[in-house]
Amino acid sequence: MLTPSVVPALPDRLTFPALGELWWLEYRDTGTRGSAQVRMRSDAASLRVSGEISERAGREALRRFVLRYARQVLPVLAQGISDECRPQLGRSARDFAVMNARRRWGSCSSDGRIRLNCKLLFFPKEQARQVILHELAHLREMNHSKRFYELLFALPGSNKDLEKANRRAMVHVPEWFLSA
Ligand SMILES: [Zn+2]
Repeated sequence: MLTPSVVPALPDRLTFPALGELWWLEYRDTGTRGSAQVRMRSDAASLRVSGEISERAGREALRRFVLRYARQVLPVLAQGISDECRPQLGRSARDFAVMNARRRWGSCSSDGRIRLNCKLLFFPKEQARQVILHELAHLREMNHSKRFYELLFALPGSNKDLEKANRRAMVHVPEWFLSA
């Protein structure tokens, strides 16, 4: 049975503004208890959630999907931005990892490894880009000095307003994703 609205606490779609993507969700309660899974339908236009369709199991499955999907797409997005900024930065990130940290949007280690939060998928495109630019700028300046911000705001698409907006970017993360 397709049950799109039986559990009102579950969303009817996933929107990822950072990618300009919208995925409709279909729910199928298979009668099995304990967990649910999210699968991409073969037409690649919608997602099917099957298993136990409850608020808890459904949200858990969707959170796992978001992390899994972010691990596919965010490193590719970030690599493209890194390539774009290479002339200004003179170096590239060594690799990109994606995690689901509570509040931290990203980090950069001194050996050039950048970590990004999967919640970036829910950010407006230019705000997600700003987070990635911020971490890339750390490849050159491992601090938040004046020089760091001069470098950051000289990168394409980066500015002060976006940097400021990212301090309150939690508002873009849907409630169902945050509540455990
Ligand atoms: Zn920083």
